[in-house]
Amino acid sequence: MKQSLRTVGLLLLLIGHAALAEDGMTLLAVFAHPDDESTVAPILAKYAREGAEVHLAIATDGRYGAQDFAGIPAGDDLAAARDEEMKCAAAKLGVNLVHYDYHDQLRAAEGYDGHVPHVRALLKDVSDLVEALRPDAIITWGPDGGSNHMDHRIIGDTVTGVFLGRDWGKDISLYFYGTPASLIEDDDARMRYGVLDRYLTTAIAYEPADFDAAAESLRCHKSQFTEEAIERMISNRKERGATIYLRKFEPPHEQSDSLFKR
Ligand SMILES: [Zn+2]
Repeated sequence: MKQSLRTVGLLLLLIGHAALAEDGMTLLAVFAHPDDESTVAPILAKYAREGAEVHLAIATDGRYGAQDFAGIPAGDDLAAARDEEMKCAAAKLGVNLVHYDYHDQLRAAEGYDGHVPHVRALLKDVSDLVEALRPDAIITWGPDGGSNHMDHRIIGDTVTGVFLGRDWGKDISLYFYGTPASLIEDDDARMRYGVLDRYLTTAIAYEPADFDAAAESLRCHKSQFTEEAIERMISNRKERGATIYLRKFEPPHEQSDSLFKR
């Protein structure tokens, strides 16, 4: 009896440890537009639920994302609506929101003199954010940008550049969201944003409660998706299984004097 009580005590201790594994950890996710977070929303909810400090940074104001059904014209009104939607979505996930007001499409239409200073300011903001938070892990877009969207790719580049540019004084793990190539049927789509399954070595499983939180947060983005579209996206996610796949940035550990040594 004593032995079994001791075993139960040990088990409870281990379970307690497992539940607390994310305690004290800080996760930062950085994406381009309000609603981009939906890509990884279940695992943001999961880590917040498990006790990690989760921060979500959204770079742009989404002012160009006008949808006919919503009746909100592109511009300041839409940017204001999307800011509110983003607050709603972050609250449903239980994460801290940092919503910058960089111009949707990062002033690409204004050419070099409009775009480059805008993106340099963003780079400084992201660097300051990493400095302030000193996260243990960062998630952003990989080179495919999830959909090949130029803003997505620039955000992924910006975060990666910040990560690579200096010694942050601690080990930060950098992850790129990836869509497994095996899940994309269309050849053209697979070329645009598929990532070979074997590179997606970080597979994060989530619970039904996280799925539900992600669904609720997606429902906040009312200016972007009709109710039918939202429910379709939610059911598509259910079919894909309760796992989010990521590619970890693996830093080199050894010096080399050859391109071809193995
Ligand atoms: Zn986007």
